[in-house]
Amino acid sequence: MSDRKRILTGDRPTGRLHLGHYVGSLENRVRLQDEYECYFLVADLHMLTTKPQKEHVEAISENARQMVYDSLACGIDPAKSVIYLQSAVVETYELNLLLEMLVTVPRLQRLPSLKDMARDAELSEMPFGLLGYPVLQSADILLPRAHLVPVGKDNEAHVELTRELARRFNSYYDEVFPVPDVMIGNVPTLVGTDGNGKMSKSLGNAIMLSDDARTVEKKVNGMYTDPKRVRADIPGTVEGNPVFVYHDVFNPNRAEVEDLKERYRTGRVGDVEVKEKLAAAINGFLEPLRERRAQFESRTGFVDEVLYDGTLKMREQARETIVAVRKAMGLAGVWNRISRSAEKARKRRDDHGATTV
Ligand code: ATP
Ligand code: MG
Repeated sequence: MSDRKRILTGDRPTGRLHLGHYVGSLENRVRLQDEYECYFLVADLHMLTTKPQKEHVEAISENARQMVYDSLACGIDPAKSVIYLQSAVVETYELNLLLEMLVTVPRLQRLPSLKDMARDAELSEMPFGLLGYPVLQSADILLPRAHLVPVGKDNEAHVELTRELARRFNSYYDEVFPVPDVMIGNVPTLVGTDGNGKMSKSLGNAIMLSDDARTVEKKVNGMYTDPKRVRADIPGTVEGNPVFVYHDVFNPNRAEVEDLKERYRTGRVGDVEVKEKLAAAINGFLEPLRERRAQFESRTGFVDEVLYDGTLKMREQARETIVAVRKAMGLAGVWNRISRSAEKARKRRDDHGATTV
């Protein structure tokens, strides 16, 4: 283990990554990868909390690959950072179960994010696994004994729970875990192209990091704006208007943005111009990502190697932690006593048997 502090965060392999992931978390990951030892997970077990059916499991490999391409395209360097497959690190399941003993059901039921997820997944009742989502997330964070968790706003309360669980574990047993800090992205929650709450892979309201220029133009053209503004000469609202939210985030030409806002407020610009300039800005932002992605895509099998090497590295880290966990809890001692005593008894019987036959 190096002296650097550690980061843990990740994404569910439910599709490709989008602009919301970038501003919510990826931007911080890229920025901090030299300063921290980084662990990024492909959270396929988390995917099962809302999508357990076989068809979703079958889609994991391809989605995982695409997500790794997305991360590399943003500037994650696999030589510096570990990217791993959650389901292939079995210590995750073990720590998850042990942490479940340290939290109550009402504590989990109070988290609004879980109800939102159940609703978005069109589940009328809360699955047991989904209720445990933040506990599993805590297992992910605590397994590499991470100090910092860069995530979007919807995950803030989950990291708060992780902090509680780390403190509880440390006080019940022994100081094994750092109490991790949360880091929310520049834009805590990026609105979707449909104007609804949050851009999300599963809601069909996302601009993907891998979208080509034409697709971006089409998506921006279909974006929700101010519904009261049926004609270009009607004054419109800029605040909270998704088109201007995106202009603020992705258009580096501040003068252009201020000019568009001013003319929008006073009914002197059409939606077409606002959207064309936005599409150009987003495409300007995505172009270097597309180029980097294409370079990695041309290296056959490279992403699989990244995931494979990362998972092996994470396994080492996870084993170290789980040994410390078993020792702190005294579970290792229980087994050691039983196995020593059993072996002694067997040896005695064998020795005795040998002398009497
Ligand atoms: P799903 O719809 O499958 O839940 P998702 O788009 O919500 O997918 P997740 O894999 O759940 O993506 O989230 C990965 C990370 O990206 C989390 O840290 C989350 O907070 C962040 N994130 C996702 N969407 C946004 C968004 N619209 N704005 C800011 N951060 C986001
Ligand atoms: Mg989500």
